[in-house]
Amino acid sequence: MDIRADRIATLRKIIQNSKRAVFFGGAGVSTESGIPDFRSEDGLYRQKYKYPPETILSHTFFCEHTAEFYEFYRDKMLCLDAQPNAAHRVLARLEAEGILSAVVTQNIDGLHQKAGSKNVLELHGSVWRNFCTQCGMPYPVQRIRKGTGVPRCACGGVVKPDVVLYEEPLDQGVLDRSVRAIREADTLIIGGTSLNVYPAAGLVEFFGGDNVVVINRGAPAKDMRGVFFIDGKIGEVLSAL
Ligand code: NAD
Repeated sequence: MDIRADRIATLRKIIQNSKRAVFFGGAGVSTESGIPDFRSEDGLYRQKYKYPPETILSHTFFCEHTAEFYEFYRDKMLCLDAQPNAAHRVLARLEAEGILSAVVTQNIDGLHQKAGSKNVLELHGSVWRNFCTQCGMPYPVQRIRKGTGVPRCACGGVVKPDVVLYEEPLDQGVLDRSVRAIREADTLIIGGTSLNVYPAAGLVEFFGGDNVVVINRGAPAKDMRGVFFIDGKIGEVLSAL
């Protein structure tokens, strides 16, 4: 058995002995579905835009340059045809088997739900929900995709995706449920995240259980002591379970 197979065997054992594992993930979970992350080699931070992505995806920019926001958003964030990969599917299966109690995700693509996961806590919202900033009416995502310029509600108000932009607070209810799930977890599986984006990344500190597993391409920006780390593509690693 080579080292990798040995590590997969250890991972399998940890997961099979879990009764309420929680998965905490980020953009790296969806790169194998063709959605670019922020910080990888081919991530959005390495691509050339007039403004850095965190500026475009900020509340101020949305308010002051709404048309430019939507240009970037339609081009890079609205990946409605993307399909779940092996990581999403295995996590959904672990939930159905009673091993995983929640997926806490920083992603906004809805792929965990597409794969069949039920308890998905979307820290940063979802591109699939959109509302008028004036009257609160929902607005169909397909109309945003097909349209051009700034999407407007029948009342004339500007439509905003239900996505947490930089400078905006996280939804308190989602935050509370995420903290509770992580606190009550016996295993925390962290994957596909650089752990750079706060306050989301700080949630892993609430874990007090036995095993922390990290499956990531490269080590995340946190102390990895005492953590069972597998350096690899999460879809490939999880599908080997
Ligand atoms: P990030 O880009 O900062 O980090 C991604 C991490 O995943 C990196 O460490 C990278 O090496 C790793 N990675 C990439 N592909 C991987 C793979 N196949 N298997 C394992 N690891 C892999 O992403 P983040 O930590 O989630 O933070 C960025 C923010 O960007 C989040 O707030 C998220 O909301 C947002 N975002 C979301 C999407 C999406 O919804 N799919 C896409 C881009 C950005």
